[in-house]
Amino acid sequence: MKLNAGYSSLASPLELGLHKSGLRLTPQRKKVLDLFQRIGSGNHLSAEEVHAHLLQMKSRVSLATIYRTLRLLVRMGFLHELELSEGGHRFELLSKDHPDHHHLVCINCGRTEEFESDEVVDAGRKAAENKGFKLIESTLNVRALCPQCI
Ligand SMILES: [Zn+2]
Ligand SMILES: [Zn+2]
Repeated sequence: MKLNAGYSSLASPLELGLHKSGLRLTPQRKKVLDLFQRIGSGNHLSAEEVHAHLLQMKSRVSLATIYRTLRLLVRMGFLHELELSEGGHRFELLSKDHPDHHHLVCINCGRTEEFESDEVVDAGRKAAENKGFKLIESTLNVRALCPQCI
């Protein structure tokens, strides 16, 4: 009989995510998460792009299922969702190596560039403190036109 059976002292982020939300990481959800982990943080994919990647991997999943899966992974704390008024929604890996960062988003083609700004983070933190709010995140999405779309 093994010691520690059914018990893990070193919980991986995956296991922590499962624990936090009580949701299961089904093979389908794992596949989508694996895709984000493979392309790495700092990449922002739309549901359509995730769908196209999975089709390339010979994985037949409907776009509706991809949307549901992405929303769930956001709720489970694995992905971050960017809401872009014209460009729909994009998703990126939530990573501790990739802390608070901001986005410059082209409203025409959806090109997304990241930038860092301590001022923005500080402004959010101070505003929350002043009003007695508990800060969750302080990020800025800037809507713009990229050089190709101007
Ligand atoms: Zn980002
Ligand atoms: Zn553009």
